[in-house]
Amino acid sequence: MNYYIHVPFCASKCGYCVFYSVTDASAELQKRYLEKLFSQLETQTEKAETVYIGGGTPTLFDAETLARFLDKISTSLPCGEETEISIEANPETLTREKIAVLKKHVTRLSTGVQSFFPEVRELLGRKCGQKQLESALAGIAEAGFPHWNCDLIYAVPGRGKEDWGKEFDFLARYPVDHVSCYSLTPEEGARLYGKLAPCGDALAAELEEVTRSKLAERGIGQYEVSNYARPGCECRHNVNVWRGGLLRGFGPSASSFDGRDRATEAASLTEWLAGAPPAADRIAPGARLDEIFAVNLRTTEGWTKELWDKVPHADLWQVRREKAEAAAKRFPGCFVIAPQRIKLARKGLDFWDTIAEELLS
Ligand code: SF4
Repeated sequence: MNYYIHVPFCASKCGYCVFYSVTDASAELQKRYLEKLFSQLETQTEKAETVYIGGGTPTLFDAETLARFLDKISTSLPCGEETEISIEANPETLTREKIAVLKKHVTRLSTGVQSFFPEVRELLGRKCGQKQLESALAGIAEAGFPHWNCDLIYAVPGRGKEDWGKEFDFLARYPVDHVSCYSLTPEEGARLYGKLAPCGDALAAELEEVTRSKLAERGIGQYEVSNYARPGCECRHNVNVWRGGLLRGFGPSASSFDGRDRATEAASLTEWLAGAPPAADRIAPGARLDEIFAVNLRTTEGWTKELWDKVPHADLWQVRREKAEAAAKRFPGCFVIAPQRIKLARKGLDFWDTIAEELLS
């Protein structure tokens, strides 16, 4: 089982963010959240292949609470030596003490750096000073986590190829083995929605090329539209979820997948605490398979027959081949279809959104 835990607290709201979180992280609210979460975690019996702790800002908890929170997760969920335990961390919330707590409990640390330039973080509404950032990253490097991801944001107005390339020069100071790069496209509901000049497709493609070549110099290759890793350092949690793996989510706005249906917890801490039931997302089995098929085409490996056969309630590989062949006719040069593999070519990855629409129609 893949477990996801959503921590719904942030110190403030970043301008591009639509993830659910509240900025009232009072001790009383934290206590009520943790009590309910702990009672739910205690009932879990399925072996944890991965645990992903996201948010919100899980590292907003003070060091003592963070230790109690992580202790509870690793003792309540059936974790083993092989379990991947990831946590999202905001550099400005990290202290040496918290880093030591994280080191004791997690196998994978994901740092929300977004930019090494203070003026970009300012524009994004990230409250992280340069000294705080450098001190946190130095502390993480010194602690030496088994896996370390860094999130970066590109396509920021006023920043060109050269600026974007410099982000990787800063990044090269740290032993990260995974990088996630997201384009700045604030969605509806985000404070910056509709307020930024969009980055054109041509510049976006050039920036992505900078990303690929800068990371390739360090042996970090692209394995998904937005994700890059050294071989063997991919985020197992995400890979499993993209391939239709079972997911059980806890906390406000967390999603679960039982092999057929998805369910999403209320995106409201108050409602979640009051026991609001999760919203069910039931669609026809064929439509669900189409969705899983499309999602994993964002990866550079795509599907093999062997992987597809492991999808819960998978239909025949031949069905997938026929769908891919039909889509390939509409999108020439975008698919690579072999007897045992279906994946998107470089051009196809660039047009994934449009191809996915076609596959889901
Ligand atoms: S981007 Fe992260 S830190 Fe910023 S508001 Fe969203 S969840 Fe919180």
